[in-house]
Parts: sequence; structure tokens; C-alpha cells
Amino acid sequence: HPTFFKLLIVTTVSGGGLLTFSDASPFQRSITGASSQNEGKKKKVVVLGTGWAGTSFLKNLKSSSYDVQVVSPNNFFTFTPLLPSVTNGTVEARSIVEPIRNIVKKKPYSVEFEEAECYKIDPVNKKVYCRSNQSSTLDGVEEFTVDYDVLILAMGARVNTFNTPGVEEHAHFLKEVGDAQKLRKSIIDCYERASLPSVSEEEKKRMMHFVVVGGGPTGVEYAAELHDLAFDDMAKLYPSAKDYLKITLLEAGDHILNMFDKRIITFATDKFQRDGIDVKTGSMVVRVSDKDISTKERKTGEIVSVPYGVVLWSTGIATRPVVRDFMNHIGQAKRRVLATDEWLRVEGCEDVYALGDCATINQRKVMEDIAAIFEKADKTSNGTLDLKDFKEVVGHICERYPQVELYLRKNKLKSFYDLLKNAKGDDKKQIDIETFKKALSEVDSQMKSLPPTAQVAAQQGEYLAKCFNRMELCEKNPEGPLRFRASGRHRFHPFRYRHFGQFAPLGGEQTAAQLPGDWVSIGHSTQWLWYSVYASKLVSWRTRMLVISDWSRRFIFGRDSSKI
Ligand code: FAD
Repeated sequence: HPTFFKLLIVTTVSGGGLLTFSDASPFQRSITGASSQNEGKKKKVVVLGTGWAGTSFLKNLKSSSYDVQVVSPNNFFTFTPLLPSVTNGTVEARSIVEPIRNIVKKKPYSVEFEEAECYKIDPVNKKVYCRSNQSSTLDGVEEFTVDYDVLILAMGARVNTFNTPGVEEHAHFLKEVGDAQKLRKSIIDCYERASLPSVSEEEKKRMMHFVVVGGGPTGVEYAAELHDLAFDDMAKLYPSAKDYLKITLLEAGDHILNMFDKRIITFATDKFQRDGIDVKTGSMVVRVSDKDISTKERKTGEIVSVPYGVVLWSTGIATRPVVRDFMNHIGQAKRRVLATDEWLRVEGCEDVYALGDCATINQRKVMEDIAAIFEKADKTSNGTLDLKDFKEVVGHICERYPQVELYLRKNKLKSFYDLLKNAKGDDKKQIDIETFKKALSEVDSQMKSLPPTAQVAAQQGEYLAKCFNRMELCEKNPEGPLRFRASGRHRFHPFRYRHFGQFAPLGGEQTAAQLPGDWVSIGHSTQWLWYSVYASKLVSWRTRMLVISDWSRRFIFGRDSSKI
């Protein structure tokens, strides 16, 4: 409806200019507190993690007013979308990592890096406890503490095993470069063993059964990569082993790639069927032993046990123990994931920010804020809102809750839509607050939190760095930039996620892409789009050149099957 869109456009283009906020800037607390204490001293920002979120923050931080200290068990950044390509030798591990010291070497701020992992966070004394394996002592562990003024948690997440027995001990994961290298070695070991003359037929069958658990984008991409490796390269190199090959993809839900469009799901399922990849849906893994994997079939309730050679576990993520422990200390024990507000500040804790996979924005809090506005309006306008106020509230929602706008555009949510339609062109028209509240709760119940992706993590890192870049200016002009002075607005916009679409590589030089506006593209041409997007997104020219040369090498000579 034209009015509806006009309203949304006004609120978006003006950056929520209609809105006024009476509370203080989210950054004000920490700025004023610390600056009065440490006049003239640079603030110490400690960043935990050098993944997508931490690296994006470090790359975009341009202010020289901080001393930055980075702590991470890896002294490099990994371009995770290409990890599945490392498992089959299409791309070398070294080509997708960039040393963190390279990334920060020309930055205007002073930076120190410690290769260590943080095992405890003490928000009261503003300290993090770390341990490093770089030690000369016998037990091989060096422990130290780091003080901070501002702490940035960008530690990502761990693999979620759902406490399934045997998974930690026997399954492979695909989270880090080391995992990809181990997985690759295990697959080649199976081929080598299945080629030995002394090995029984039954054992060969078992060795050559590769199982992928989890039908999300990573599991699907890995199954497709494995199929390509097996048929394009290994079939020629291991002719006696190829007859025993079987690839199975297990998914507990109704279908694979459930966050994608139906057209992509159908295409992927059909393609896998043609390729001979056995996709089993409604099949939940209940136990993994060293040689068998047991599943519970949803339709029959039966427990089925199948022998396997290699199993990859790719069923989503969970909170790291150090973050869980921190959550218990700050009153977030009941939550599943660490919660932040929309400025990425950890709830219940001063001067700590959390980005990427290790946290989630608490949308419930946003809804509570909006409810408070209604309450205020309720008191002043006898249960109704003037259209002007109504527009303000919609603007407020779209500003603070960007997915609502996307959702409304996409689904034309009926009650919301009717409200806006009825309000058309009549500024005096009054809107019943109760009806609006009902419409809003309809949106709320259908909203999902942001997906744990590199896109979200990188945008959050960039957003926070930009806020930090402007902090000094804000300190000098406490009333805010000239154009916002006296408006009482927040100095910084809340974080707004821009979705650029997502890919699902399906093997055989075919990829599916779901782009904004529900645009779906599948096939060989999309594979070229995938190549160009990922080449452009790589973190440096060095990695870009290496990856492009790996792709060219693969086209000319095939994949490398050596075990190193
Ligand atoms: P990570 O990138 O996981 O970084 C966490 C960092 O914290 C690491 O440097 C780690 O070493 C460090 N760390 C861990 N523990 C500690 C500790 N105790 N103390 C200090 N530091 C610590 N997303 C997409 O958008 N598109 C894709 O195509 C895509 N493909 C993927 C393919 C694979 C195989 C995988 C595994 C993920 C993929 N993702 C993709 C998801 C994406 O990689 C994650 O969402 C993203 O890495 C999250 O970024 P992060 O910075 O929060 O965490």
C-alpha cells in the first residue's frame, strides 16, 4: 500500500529523525566515568578473539585515542566460508588465513597481541584471566591477567553437540583451519586403508561410508565438496576404493537448508538424489561410537545403527564455557546466549560489548521499550494515538528494530497493514492503542534473532569501531553533533543489520543464492557469482591472490590428494 511504504521510507531515509529519546547516549556512561578518572590517559580496549567480529573491529578502528590489546588463541584470522574447500584440497589452508599482526600493523592506534585464551572474565575488577600454551615451564601453560577500561567479547561460539554421547570423542568438527586439515587427512586415510589388499570387504564398506550430520549450509556444502572430490579426483586415483563409496547426510528436521527458499531446497534435494548422496531427513543422531553411528528415525521411532568411516558433526553452535561462566556472574544465568542491547553493550555489565556469534541482541528489551512508549501515549491520549504519534511509533520501531521493517515489507502483516491503510491521509484519525499493541505482538512472536553468520559479525565489528572512532568527538561536544543538538537523541544509531543474501554451494560447479528481495538464482552462473563475491571479500590482496591461484590450479591439475 502506497501510504504504508511512504511511511516506512520516511522513517528509514530520515534515519528515524522523527524520534526523540530522552535517555543518555549508550556510550556516555563509560566515557564520562573513565575520562574523569584517567584525565589524559588513553583508554585501554581489550579485544578477545580474532575472528570475523574482532578483526572487523580492529580493521575499522581509526582513532588513535586507544591502547588496544588483543587476546586470541589464534594469531590469525580465518576466512571461514572457504573452510569446506580446504577439506578437499581445492584451497590450501594457508590461503585463507591472514596473520593478525599484518592486519593491524599500519593502524593509528597502538596495539599489542597475546596468543592466549581467556578463561575467566572479572567485570567487577575489570580484568580478564588468560592462559597461553607458549611457555617454557614443564606443564606448558603460562597464565596472566589483563586489565581493561573497555572489553570487547568477540570469541565466537563452540560446536553444539547437544550432549550426544560419543560426539566429542569420535566426530569431526569444521570450525577452524585445524579441523579442516584433520578432516581432510581422515578422508584420505580411509581411501588408503580401503585400497589395502588385506582389508575385508565389510571393513572397506565401513571405511568408505562418510556421514555428515546436519543439513544446514555447512553440512550441505561439505557433502557437495566431498562428492566432487570423490568423483572428480579420487575415483581416478583410487579405482579399487571407489565402488565402496557412500555419502550420507543426516538431518533431524523435515528438510535440508531450512533457512533457504523452497526452490533452493527442492533443487538441492533433487541434485543430491541424482548425485547419489543419501539425504535422510527426520533422522536424529543419538550416539556415536568409534565405528557406528546410531540414529532415531522420527517416523518409525526405530533406532538404526550404521557403520561409518568418517563422521562430520555440523549441527549449529553453543555458548563457550568462559562466556557461560561470565553470564552466571552478571545475572544472565537463565539465558541461552549472552544478551546485549542494540548498541552491543552487554546487559547487566558496564563497559563490556559483545559481538558476533558469542552474543545476541535482546529483542525482548526493544519490545519493552516500545511498550513503554505506548504506556506514555496511553496516559496522555486516552487509549488512542493521533496519526502523527502513530507514525512516530512506527518510525521508532523501524529504527530500533530493523527486522520489523523487513518483515512488514515482506509479509504485509495483516493487522498492521490494515491499521496503516485505515489511517490513510487523515491526520486527525485516531488509532486504538490496544489494536496496535495486538498487531505488534503478532510481529514480535514471528520475529527471529539475527543469524550467527560472518555477515552479522563483520557488520557489528564495523559498527562498533565507527562508534569508537567518534567517541572523542562526542566527549568534546557532550550535547552531540550540531545537527542533533537539543534533540536529546542517542548519539549513535543502534546497530542495523543489512542482509546481502546468502549462498549454498551444491557441488558440480553449481551454487544457489538467495539474495535480498527474495531473488533466487541457482546454477553454474551463480557459481561464478560465488567465486567473485568470495574473492572480493577475502581479507587481503595476499589471500585473494593465493585463493585465486588455488582455484586456477584446481581447474588445471585437479585437487591435491596428498595427506600433508
Ligand atoms: P569466530 O569467527 O568464530 O571467531 C572467534 C575468535 O575468538 C577466534 O579468533 C577464536 O580463536 C577466538 N577465541 C575462541 N576462544 C577464545 C578465548 N577463550 N579467548 C580469546 N579468544 C578466543 N557465515 C557467513 O556469513 N557466510 C558463510 O558462507 C559462512 N560459511 C561458514 C562456513 C563454515 C565452515 C563455518 C564454520 C562458518 C561459516 N559461517 C559463514 C559462519 C561464520 O564463520 C561465523 O558466523 C563467524 O565466524 C562468527 O564470527 P565471530 O567473530 O563471532 O567468531
